[in-house]
Amino acid sequence: MKNLRDFTHEELLAVIAGLGERPYRAEQIFKWVFFRRAASIDQMTDISKAFRERLKEEYEIGANKVLEVKRSVDGTRKFLSELEDSSRIESVLIAEGDRLTLCVSSQAGCAMGCKFCMTGVTGFTRNLTLSELTGQVFSAFELLEGEERITNIVLMGMGEPLANYDNVLKFIGVLTSNMGFNFSHNKVTLSTAGLVPAIKRFGLEGNVNLAVSLNATTDEVRDKLMPINRKYPLDELMAALRRYPLKSRKYITIEYVLISGVNDTDDDARRLASLLRSVPCKVNLIPFNAFPGSAFKSPAPERVERFHYIIKQSGYTVIVRLSKGAEIQAACGQLRGACEA
Ligand code: SAH
Ligand code: SF4
Repeated sequence: MKNLRDFTHEELLAVIAGLGERPYRAEQIFKWVFFRRAASIDQMTDISKAFRERLKEEYEIGANKVLEVKRSVDGTRKFLSELEDSSRIESVLIAEGDRLTLCVSSQAGCAMGCKFCMTGVTGFTRNLTLSELTGQVFSAFELLEGEERITNIVLMGMGEPLANYDNVLKFIGVLTSNMGFNFSHNKVTLSTAGLVPAIKRFGLEGNVNLAVSLNATTDEVRDKLMPINRKYPLDELMAALRRYPLKSRKYITIEYVLISGVNDTDDDARRLASLLRSVPCKVNLIPFNAFPGSAFKSPAPERVERFHYIIKQSGYTVIVRLSKGAEIQAACGQLRGACEA
């Protein structure tokens, strides 16, 4: 059986043509699946019974299986999903003021091997399909309480989204289509470890916010923390960011994980400020979140404050991203797709 959540509107047009039906059927089905959130083909009541039966011979609407939901005292919810091949992924709903952000995984594991990241340390299994990407949104809808609505989507869970380029681009299309989930382009953010050729391509095709995990100010340190830097070193990455085509009022988010004694000195802060000159950006400082087996340490609060101060004095918009859901291992870099039980 094929899952209708795996098909873009364009792909459905081809499917429908193959079945000898009129093109408007593709739009009807796409809307039923993503906009109206149908759980079965039988719910598509404006499609003839005969055609529904025909569709059901080959197609179904399949969901990710949610194995476990954990709730943090701060309202953060982390859910673990099992996929058909029994790979496991995690997603996080983060409540912050009037925002409710869904953090989506793009891969089962991650091949980038960043030393400070639990997902990177755990290793790579495979790319997620469109139905597994959109499935995380459907699963999150089920967890909403009362009047809650998801306001933002970030591709900042497990995996490197630009290494799963085609499916991620389709996913962004479904997220932002008014026949799909209908999120505004500026409410969706993709975060990358810095795959330079893919960043260039995404600048032309992406049309959502870009975040880049910088995490170091010299190649020496970045090579050690993020092996991808040996392939695409800082000067190439910064050049790609300077040339990144930004739509009006948009900026790139620079993420910088502060690790005690590794990249958190005053000199690092000054180097970061000069590195970012001529990149329209906002800076998010993320104090390192510890995980079992990691040799790194979180910086002292005074260090974070001082780093923040230097970046701010240099004229940047900068925030310290506070960890949500730390006690349920839902914070940045703590996802690994495993049950505690
Ligand atoms: N692979 C993409 C998307 C994942 S986003 C990327 O790396 O950008 C995950 C974010 O959490 C990245 O900004 C990463 O730098 C950060 N992160 C990873 N491990 C962390 C940890 N242990 N503590 C704090 N932040 C971490
Ligand atoms: Fe992968 Fe991002 Fe973690 Fe690096 S920080 S291992 S790129 S998920």
